[in-house]
Amino acid sequence: MRLPGYIFDEARQTARALIDFSAGLFNPTLRLGVTGLSRSGKTVFIAALIHNLLNGGRLPVFDAMAQGRIARARLEPQPDDDVPRFDYETHLRALMEARRWPESTRRISELRLVIEYQSERGAARDRTLTLDIFDYPGEWLLDLPLLDKSYAEWSAETIAMSRQGARAGLAGAWHAHLANLDASAPEDENLAREAAALFTAYLRAARDDRVALSLLPPGRFLMPGDLDGSPALTFAPLDIPPDTSPPSGSLGAMMARRYESYKDVVVRPFFHEHFARLDRQVVLVDALAAFNAGPEAVRELQATLGQVLSCFRVGRQTLWSSLVRPRVDRILFAATKADHLHHTSHDRLENILAYMTSRAIERAKFSGAQVDVAAVAAVRATREATIEHAGERLPSIIGVPLAGESAGSQIFDGETETAVFPGDLPDDPQAVFDAAAGGFRGLATGAPGDADYRFLRFRPPAYRTPGRSGPTLPHIRLDRALQFLLGDHLR
Ligand code: GDP
Repeated sequence: MRLPGYIFDEARQTARALIDFSAGLFNPTLRLGVTGLSRSGKTVFIAALIHNLLNGGRLPVFDAMAQGRIARARLEPQPDDDVPRFDYETHLRALMEARRWPESTRRISELRLVIEYQSERGAARDRTLTLDIFDYPGEWLLDLPLLDKSYAEWSAETIAMSRQGARAGLAGAWHAHLANLDASAPEDENLAREAAALFTAYLRAARDDRVALSLLPPGRFLMPGDLDGSPALTFAPLDIPPDTSPPSGSLGAMMARRYESYKDVVVRPFFHEHFARLDRQVVLVDALAAFNAGPEAVRELQATLGQVLSCFRVGRQTLWSSLVRPRVDRILFAATKADHLHHTSHDRLENILAYMTSRAIERAKFSGAQVDVAAVAAVRATREATIEHAGERLPSIIGVPLAGESAGSQIFDGETETAVFPGDLPDDPQAVFDAAAGGFRGLATGAPGDADYRFLRFRPPAYRTPGRSGPTLPHIRLDRALQFLLGDHLR
């Protein structure tokens, strides 16, 4: 008799959880997941977090640091030999020496940081907290619902979605190819590859900043990790009714087989081996990109937050739930790149994200883990000023736009500082959903002139923090994020 794969997965997961649990009794360890869709800021966030902990950054809201109780933090070899190391040193050199943004996350990686600290009660001996940080693409989380769907159901749903709104305009080439595919024709590798390539190109186009859609599974099509080009990724939807099962030897059967193996070799192992072992999770959200793209992107971002939440349905750590279920007991949603806004809008950004997550919590009927939101810039690339324009005083930001960035006819050289009026976020969070109100228009109005500054990216900062022995990277509210994620373990 052949037992289903998930029984072995659960046995393995149980064994792992027991090992983690007993190791944690002697050496308190926190496994922190950092995720978010591509370009949401994961690499920059982790590099900045580690840098600030190692170098005693300015973190006034992070109690253990502000109270001077962190004696030392150091990097140590990570426990998992099968997970690549997060390349902290290279990323930090890029940020601080070259003033370049580091290479973004493309696969899972890990880094171990050990924090020596004094308890709040001032016990005689220092304690240690071992922090294992896992960086993984948020796209992979959005694959969870596939486990409950057959190939035909997934196909029907994916095609129906691709015919709506902005997606329809981006899916033309793939739809044209799809119209000529016959699911009952004999299987054909070349057709499968062409279909997968056109389907992937459509997913990529929908992810582009100008559209900024976010619900685009299967996750590995956008973030293949080490599986680029493998047969498990060489499939695509076919236009078949949701209750069909294509005859054996057909193109449809070949696609369905690969879809099932995608779930077996990619989706399940990720959830069992990595996701289920996390204790805390930060989900980074590029909300500004969605606001800039408009209400469709905002609505989809909210649906995405709901799906992310549903992965964490089981909350608080109990022995039983830690053995077989996700054990995350705190989730932080962090809107990144807040330095693209004047500080007068930071609270508004936080309010909008809180509004979106509370609706997502309702829709996902989520209960359990504690959820918080914050607007952060892990690395602050701008400073603030007020500029006068047409008799108005506009709260603005100043930074060095990346070389090659443009606004109107202006092309930036990567060296020159520019002041930009980024616009205000609306006071009422509902406004970003509201098509009639034009969504969030503020960033569209650069000043002076009317060039489109919405997508302007800035270089990492050059300045050092005065009065410190070594320079630390400036940030916005990174300390709030740390306090929520780690504070209670450093009391
Ligand atoms: P990942 O794909 O989630 O790993 O995203 P990254 O961390 O590589 O960030 C993607 C891009 O977003 C970077 O190259 C920067 O241009 C920008 N970015 C990320 N974090 C910040 C931040 O704190 N401030 C600013 N101004 N830009 C950021």
